[in-house]
Amino acid sequence: MKYSAWSLLRGALVGQRNWSPAWRSPDPKPRYDAIVVGGGGHGLATAYYLAKNHGLTNVAVLERGWVGGGNTGRNTTIVRSNYLYPESARLYDFSLRLYEGLARELNFNIMLSQRGLVLLAHSRHDLDSMARWANAMRMNGIEAELLSREQVAALAPALDLSPEARLPVVGGFIQRRGGTARHDAVAWGYARAASKLGVDIIQDCEVRGFLQADGRAVGVETSRGPIHADRIGIAAAGHSSVLAKLAGFRLPVTSYALQALVSEPVKPLLDTVILSPGTGAYVSQSDKGEMVIGAMLDLFPSYAQRGSFAIEQAIVAATLAMFPAFSRLRMLRQWAGIVDVVHDSSPIIGATPVPGIYINCGWGTGGFKGIPVGGWTLAHVLATGKNHELAEPFQLQRFLTGRLIDEAAASGIAH
Ligand SMILES: Cc1cc2nc3c(=O)[nH]c(=O)nc-3n(C[C@H](O)[C@H](O)[C@H](O)COP(=O)(O)OP(=O)(O)OC[C@H]3O[C@@H](n4cnc5c(N)ncnc54)[C@H](O)[C@@H]3O)c2cc1C
Repeated sequence: MKYSAWSLLRGALVGQRNWSPAWRSPDPKPRYDAIVVGGGGHGLATAYYLAKNHGLTNVAVLERGWVGGGNTGRNTTIVRSNYLYPESARLYDFSLRLYEGLARELNFNIMLSQRGLVLLAHSRHDLDSMARWANAMRMNGIEAELLSREQVAALAPALDLSPEARLPVVGGFIQRRGGTARHDAVAWGYARAASKLGVDIIQDCEVRGFLQADGRAVGVETSRGPIHADRIGIAAAGHSSVLAKLAGFRLPVTSYALQALVSEPVKPLLDTVILSPGTGAYVSQSDKGEMVIGAMLDLFPSYAQRGSFAIEQAIVAATLAMFPAFSRLRMLRQWAGIVDVVHDSSPIIGATPVPGIYINCGWGTGGFKGIPVGGWTLAHVLATGKNHELAEPFQLQRFLTGRLIDEAAASGIAH
């Protein structure tokens, strides 16, 4: 059914009992044209674009838990395209442009809020490097503005801008098209739209191995039995290297827990996103009023998907240095997701050493913003066997050739 104000009104007349499930939950078929492993945003977007852009509808998304239960449902929802290198600028800005039309396209309110993303400069050196960063963005055709201390003050009056602050703010820069989107809605919107086009979304279905014949993948072994397909896409974020190992190849991915926390809801106080690259802390206010606070990576690799007190303490200290008034806030929840960090902080999208298996991983701490383009480009290579031009520089091969795209500085949270 189409979601609209009319369907809400119609629902009001029948006690809101007119809603059908947003996507079908069929049993897996023995064979598909393509399988996507991972029901996060990237996997669901891949399935949607396979169906929509390439007419491939005999597709299954296999998710071991529930749709959006991985990093897609655990992230701090920031979208932006403020990267340094032309390859990344093209990739991330394509994604942001897809986000800008996504609610209408999917008929699902993803609550995109382009409230601007402000990066704080705490020293003259920060300002110099931000000037370089903003210039690089402009040369890549993406708007960016350097901000004086007074302009930052006008955007976020709750910030401590006194010269005595532990981290004095001397200015910053803003991407006004940056902001936030509702993470669950992105997953649900893609799931619903893909299902409508005929894709099977199969939850509670863990991939435990890959079926291979004559040196190529021909299917997967799952907790619900074998499923065959000649084209398999992996979009499993922090568990990509686990799946790669099952398939018999290695990835230059290290998995870490990344943490975040939210406060109790308060009245509107912050209508932009504030990020301090120097401390690794960033804050936005959700539509419910909670302060959503993002933290840095754990210092050691791990698959333990839970928060830890040490990181929480450090991030609360960094946040309070910026917003002393937040010391009164009570924290509601803290959690972690397992992110897939690659040495150059750029994603990997394309073929793997096993013919028939393609991968989309390595987004690390910043793949929510990349969901539309990650799905678009993985779908392209799955459907055509050829890399999408946007994904060409992001091949696994770059770790052999040395043509890395080092976006550590722009990744926001230090990798
Ligand atoms: C705390 C935190 C804050 C973040 N903040 C931001 C942010 O503000 N902005 C931003 O752009 N990015 C952010 N990120 C990163 C972003 O969340 C991820 O890069 C992105 O969600 C990855 O999407 P995905 O679909 O690849 O992975 P996921 O959503 O993790 O989906 C992968 C799915 O694969 C499934 N899976 C794994 N193994 C198997 C298997 N064997 N069989 C079947 N299914 C399997 C998992 O259950 C999971 O649902 C953050 C991450 C975290 C943890």
